[in-house]
Amino acid sequence: MAYQSLYRRYRPRRFSEVRGQEHVVGALRNAVNTHTEGHAYLFSGPRGTGKTSTARILAKALNCDNLQQGEPCCECTPCQDMEAGRSFDLFELDAASNNGVDAIRDLIERTAVGSPGRTKVYILDEVHMLSPGASNALLKTLEEPPAHVRFVLATTDPQKVLPTIKSRTQHFEFQLLSAQELETYVRWINTDADLDVDDESIAWVVRQGRGSARDTLSALDQVVAAGGVVTRAEPVEQLFSALLSRDTGQAIAAVSDALAQGHDPRVLGKAFLDSLRDTFLLSLGVAVPHLMAEDAEQFGAWASKLGTPLLTRAMEAVGSA
Ligand SMILES: [Zn+2]
Repeated sequence: MAYQSLYRRYRPRRFSEVRGQEHVVGALRNAVNTHTEGHAYLFSGPRGTGKTSTARILAKALNCDNLQQGEPCCECTPCQDMEAGRSFDLFELDAASNNGVDAIRDLIERTAVGSPGRTKVYILDEVHMLSPGASNALLKTLEEPPAHVRFVLATTDPQKVLPTIKSRTQHFEFQLLSAQELETYVRWINTDADLDVDDESIAWVVRQGRGSARDTLSALDQVVAAGGVVTRAEPVEQLFSALLSRDTGQAIAAVSDALAQGHDPRVLGKAFLDSLRDTFLLSLGVAVPHLMAEDAEQFGAWASKLGTPLLTRAMEAVGSA
């Protein structure tokens, strides 16, 4: 059998399996159970926090023949068809690549046609990418969809969604997971899948994830593929050390060492920028729950030494590099 990524293998199938979004899945499950679900939802939140997975679970629950207190049974024919991606009761549109009026008109025409199951669910991913014309074309259908139709609009950038769209939906916000939640999750998978990944690598995986369940499992896949050996992000520490001593030469040396060791400059740049951002937030006294305790301590020490103005300038410099 071909290797299946951990993210796919551990993709949640029921509301109760979605990690770290209890406020959202609890409300949805209750709505399904009492037949009071809304006709249009807006799911917003960072990438990899479970928006699309939750939308698919909702679609499954709304068509399940053997609903169990709001949870899909995952065994009946509608559930199985949904999981196999062959259900006619689920339609997913990536609004990032289908953002024009024509794609939305086509979708609206589809909604008028009946579907084999009880409810047809339309998932529009990255809905903030729709053109203004396409958004406006969607409004009327969003307000009064046919009785068998439900919409789930998903976005990583809710600020860019038209207010008229927002006001016609029930808005649920998905959150980044804390380092503690992710560590518990990774340790559970480590045991369940018999991966035998050591503590240091688990810490690295949680760090790479930065609060996203999907990115965390991708990092765990990398560790498994590499046989458990990972390098810690030392160049970032050296760059901070150069920043602390205001030493440009040391910074250049750290970068050229890292490149000589085969680090990808874009990955390094992003890692440094991410760390600067976390340190910046700590300098403002903002909590950063996705940081591991030891990192929060380290970054906190850097934050008080560097101060907010210097961190702001450093972020601007690295961000524009
Ligand atoms: Zn079912």
